[in-house]
Amino acid sequence: METLPRPTAGIDYPQNLQEFDRWFGDEAACRSYIFRVRWPQGYECFRCRSKAPPWITSRGYLHCRKCGGEISITAGTVFEGTRKPLRVWFQAIWLVTSQKHGASALGLQRVLGLGSYQTAWTWLHKLRRAMIRPGREQLHGSVEVDETYVGGVATGGKRGRGTENKEIVVIAVEVLRPKGFGRVRMRRVPDVSGDSLVPFICDVAEPGCEILTDGWGGYSSLSKHSYVHSRTVLSDSGDPAHVTMPGVHRIAAIPKRWLLGIHQGAVSGKHLDYYLDEYTFRFNRRTSRSRGMLFYRLMQQAVATASVPYRQLVDGNHKM
Ligand SMILES: [Zn+2]
Repeated sequence: METLPRPTAGIDYPQNLQEFDRWFGDEAACRSYIFRVRWPQGYECFRCRSKAPPWITSRGYLHCRKCGGEISITAGTVFEGTRKPLRVWFQAIWLVTSQKHGASALGLQRVLGLGSYQTAWTWLHKLRRAMIRPGREQLHGSVEVDETYVGGVATGGKRGRGTENKEIVVIAVEVLRPKGFGRVRMRRVPDVSGDSLVPFICDVAEPGCEILTDGWGGYSSLSKHSYVHSRTVLSDSGDPAHVTMPGVHRIAAIPKRWLLGIHQGAVSGKHLDYYLDEYTFRFNRRTSRSRGMLFYRLMQQAVATASVPYRQLVDGNHKM
C-alpha cells in the first residue's frame, strides 16, 4: 500500500457527490472499483497464478481466463455475503467519510432508506472495524500520554476513584516541534494501574520514543522499557480535573463533544472502542485536503477487512 503512488482526486477517487454519482451508477461499476482498489498492482489467479486480467462476471465473480477459477470479488471484504447492493454500501462509506463528524446509525438509515435501524447500525460497526488498519506503524518522536474519562456523571475525587460509571480512555499523541500534533492512538482501559497503561504505550509507541506524562505512579515503570520518560509534575495533590497534559487534554475534549453530539452520549462500554477507532481514523487523516481521499482510504481498508457477523459485533469482541 505504501509503495504505491499517492492517489489522485478525480482519477482514484471521486472529488464530490456529482462525481460519486457518475462513477458508481450500477453494480458493475462498483465491482470494477473494488477490483481496482483491492488489486492495485494487478490480480493473480488464486489457483493457477496467471496474471492475465480476469473478467468480472455479472454475478460478481473474477473469472480466470486461463484455468476458469472463480472467486467472489467481495470474498474477504466487509461486503462479503451482503444482500444489499454495493451501491448502497458505497453511499454509506461516502456518508461516513464526507461528514466532518461521521454519521449516526439513524442518519444512515434515513439517508440510505435502509429497512431497519439494525442494518444501519451493523454497517457502521463493520465500517468502524475497517478504519483500523492492521499492522499500522507505531508512533514516534515525542509522545504525550494521559488518561481521560468518558461517560457517566462527573464526580471528581482521586484519580481512578469515584469513576465507577465512567470509562477510562488512555490517549497517546505525537507532539510535533515547534507546535502541533501528529497521530493519535486511544484505548479503553479497566483502570489506571501500570499494568493497564504501560502495555498500551508499548503497543503504540516505538522503542526510543520520548514519553511525556504527568507524575502519576502508573507510568513509573516506563523507564524499564526502552523509552525516555519525561515527567511533568504539575500538582502533587491529585488534581481532580486530572487532565494535565496539554496535548491530550485538547484531543480528549473533542471525542467527548463528538460522542455527545453524534451519539447522544449513548455509547456503552464495549462499543466505545469502535467509536474511538473511528475518531482515530478521522483525526489521523484530518489534514487530508479532500473528503474523497478519506473515502478512498476507508475503501482500501474495507476491501482488506473480513466481514464480521452481526452476532459478533453485538458481543463487541474488540481486537487491536
Ligand atoms: Zn487461473
